[in-house]
Amino acid sequence: MRRTTVSDPPRVPWHTIDPEAVFEQLGTGPEGLPLDEVESRLERYGLNQLPQPRRRGPLARLADQFNNLLIYVLLGAALVTALLAHWVDTGVILGVVVINALIGFLQEGKAEKALDAIRGLLSPQATVIRAGRRQVLAAEHLVPGDVVVLQSGDKVPADLRLFRVRDLRIEEASLTGESVPVEKAATAVEPDAVLGDRSSMAYASTLVTYGQGAGVVVATGAGTEIGHISAMLGQVQTLTTPLLKQIAQFGRWLTAAILLLGGFTFLFGVLLRDYSATDMFLAAVGLVVAAIPEGLPAIITITLAIGVQRMARRNGIIRLLPAVETLGAVSVICSDKTGTLTRNEMTVQAVVTAGASYGVTGVGYDPHGAVILDGRDQDPAGQPELNEIARAALLCNDAQVRERDGAWQLDGDPTEGALVTLALKCGLDADYQQQLLPRADTIPFESEHRFMATLHHDHAGHGFVYLKGAPEKVLEMCTRQRRDGEDLPIDPDYWHGRVLELGRNGLRTLALAFRPTGDDHRELAFADVDGGLTLLGLVGIIDPPRQEAIEAVARCRSAGIRVKMITGDHAVTAMAIAGQMGIGDGSAALTGAELEHLDDAALCQRVGGVDVFARTSPEHKLRLVTALQAEGQVVAMTGDGVNDAPALKRSNVGVAMGRKGTEVAKEAAEMVLADDNFASIAHAVEEGRTVYDNIKKSILFILPTNGAEALILVAAVVLGRSLPITPVQILWVNMITAVTLALSLAFEPPEQDVMGRPPRRAEEPILSRFLVWRIIFVSIIAVIGSFGLFIYERQAGMDVEYARTVAVNTLVMFEAFYLLNTRYIDRSVLSREGLLGNRYVLYAIVVVVLFQLLYTYLPWMQLLFQSRPLEGMTWLRIVPVAASVFVLVEMEKALYPYLRRRGSS
Ligand code: ATP
Repeated sequence: MRRTTVSDPPRVPWHTIDPEAVFEQLGTGPEGLPLDEVESRLERYGLNQLPQPRRRGPLARLADQFNNLLIYVLLGAALVTALLAHWVDTGVILGVVVINALIGFLQEGKAEKALDAIRGLLSPQATVIRAGRRQVLAAEHLVPGDVVVLQSGDKVPADLRLFRVRDLRIEEASLTGESVPVEKAATAVEPDAVLGDRSSMAYASTLVTYGQGAGVVVATGAGTEIGHISAMLGQVQTLTTPLLKQIAQFGRWLTAAILLLGGFTFLFGVLLRDYSATDMFLAAVGLVVAAIPEGLPAIITITLAIGVQRMARRNGIIRLLPAVETLGAVSVICSDKTGTLTRNEMTVQAVVTAGASYGVTGVGYDPHGAVILDGRDQDPAGQPELNEIARAALLCNDAQVRERDGAWQLDGDPTEGALVTLALKCGLDADYQQQLLPRADTIPFESEHRFMATLHHDHAGHGFVYLKGAPEKVLEMCTRQRRDGEDLPIDPDYWHGRVLELGRNGLRTLALAFRPTGDDHRELAFADVDGGLTLLGLVGIIDPPRQEAIEAVARCRSAGIRVKMITGDHAVTAMAIAGQMGIGDGSAALTGAELEHLDDAALCQRVGGVDVFARTSPEHKLRLVTALQAEGQVVAMTGDGVNDAPALKRSNVGVAMGRKGTEVAKEAAEMVLADDNFASIAHAVEEGRTVYDNIKKSILFILPTNGAEALILVAAVVLGRSLPITPVQILWVNMITAVTLALSLAFEPPEQDVMGRPPRRAEEPILSRFLVWRIIFVSIIAVIGSFGLFIYERQAGMDVEYARTVAVNTLVMFEAFYLLNTRYIDRSVLSREGLLGNRYVLYAIVVVVLFQLLYTYLPWMQLLFQSRPLEGMTWLRIVPVAASVFVLVEMEKALYPYLRRRGSS
């Protein structure tokens, strides 16, 4: 293993030094480091990683397992039994404490490992220039001297001395606590400037919110400013969620109630039933031990961890654990269109000029294809307007398509890739065009302004501005159009008609325009494209829907989840795609412009009924989430850009795109989609619902065991009989049922109808009235069965130890049968799938039966637990009595809907 930091790079006040001097000191330049130098620096300085947060060591973690009210109660019980010289009881209680701690320790370790593995999937990337070539690599491989390129949305990967900036703004809250982004510059600053004022530096872990820049790495890993701040090191995700807290609280409350009940039983027995104080004390200890569900917290933790792992396997990476629960309650999913619902594999299919409408053939980024007019292939060279569009498409573009291993591959934005391919189909050569008309400046594409413009010069003293973007936007900037080589006044009606036509066919539309300018024009400003451009034409791009997303939308519908599409695309295009995907009912889309005219109250009224939001910019997303939440919806919202971050934070489950998403969006999100695919959100919701179900099932399973044991003891005291189960035996029952039977429920697969029912209400308590009823119902059945058989054996003349062995076995067998019932909360399990669908349940039952045989027949177990070997005939009573719970609960499931209906009518 490589050490994180082998030696520190020199500590120099980099912010005070000019970029040239920085290059010199670090032996690098704007073209980056040579590759062999990178290797040796990596050896010297180590990986660019922050030191791992200090973990609690294994011993501390084990000790933590004892730090719990329940354990204190058990230890107290052990102490008192020891004082009374009941050594076996003391031994067993201590044994249980230790076993419980060990299990908690192991399971917590597993859960933490699972989360660690998932965190590893989220490691950030950096764009560097090495040996003159730009490449994207894992940020941990950066070394001092590397040249890093930043753009809005990036997380700064190491401490950088900036040497080129363009409107660069960085939010440094993680370092300085100041959440307003600061403007950066390449010029050196005062030596005594504080961290927040060092505008020539970009620090690791801060976020680029606007603009672009480039800088030299001056410190990596532990050497960075953030590496020096120890507060950051405490940021370990803890294994806790609101639900776990709620349950811990419930546990404390229950413990207190149980202690009280124990106290009363003790007094009742001593004062009213003439038991000896020692016997009664042991009975009260038994009661306390019986009623506490000691295995429950560990089982819930492991259920959550298993859920997180399952989601990761299906491409949903959970960043914040509470999202697992919230996902199960999601009632609206707001999704981006491009890349999430659609494939983001764009191909130009139509080109429209002032005088003609061309079709374009070919698939994907492969430039083999033809341009067709009136059903015939055209030679693009003979079509000057087409040629001009192709040139604009190629020059006002940052993407590249290349043939690699026989396949055409894209580097860059898919929309732009489609345009490059179009230009290649029109016979243009990318390198040649770029040499002919080198680019001097760029206004990059941003979702807010929806266009991109570039400035070029030929070698004969002419300048040109090329621009492409959303048609309405571009049309506003154009006063003229090109036809037959002439510039004529623009005919907006014609163009609007063509835009609608392309949109109705589901095509994404872009307009291209240009403007001549002078040789001395070297910097492009927004004012330069504010008007006076000449429209060249439109292109229509197809982006096919993802098949699996169409299916996922349908599944969400049946799960009572409304899917809303929020897109920057044109309303007509958005409606056409929504129609193909099964989103909405065909009623009109709401556009960003319309949305701006609605006040919050009016928006709340409209938002529920509209499923397609078009021409929106990221700020609209925030208003939409807020309005939906005001309507009581639980909202999952997708996003990828910097400006999506507020909406992602605001939504109940923010979902960032793993591939095309910016680091800023990922930081703001609860979940990251590894494949950017809508279908993965639907899967995550399904897993979220399953986790919640399984937690409910564990509770529903465990509590009746405790309830029955407590009731048996209370009944025995009240009836003045000897205890049918001793405290030590109770501990045995609790331990083996919790670690075998209950744990198997954590592995329950999703129920068939998990996506066929409406979302759970967010405020619904986990213990509904129905669950409380079921817990009481099953507890009573188990008490009657176990106590009943105990009395039966006594009356048949068996000694108390024999009768107790029967009672313990009956209780455990009850649990084994009831485990099968619990696989489905309110549906019948009488089917092949219902009975055999979870192999862990079957293994657990087999293991428990084996344990019970050992308990009954193994001599040292008999010594420890005072058990007796049972006769074969006795089992013939135990098994049918225990099986009764299975039949009764299935009957209750069948009857409950009728009872509930009558109750509510
Ligand atoms: P979503 O929000 O679902 O991802 P989208 O990707 O269609 O939707 P944007 O990327 O904001 O939304 O694009 C909005 C519009 O801007 C597009 O319809 C297109 O006309 C135009 N556009 C997209 N990409 C570019 C680009 N690289 N250069 C110029 N214009 C573009």
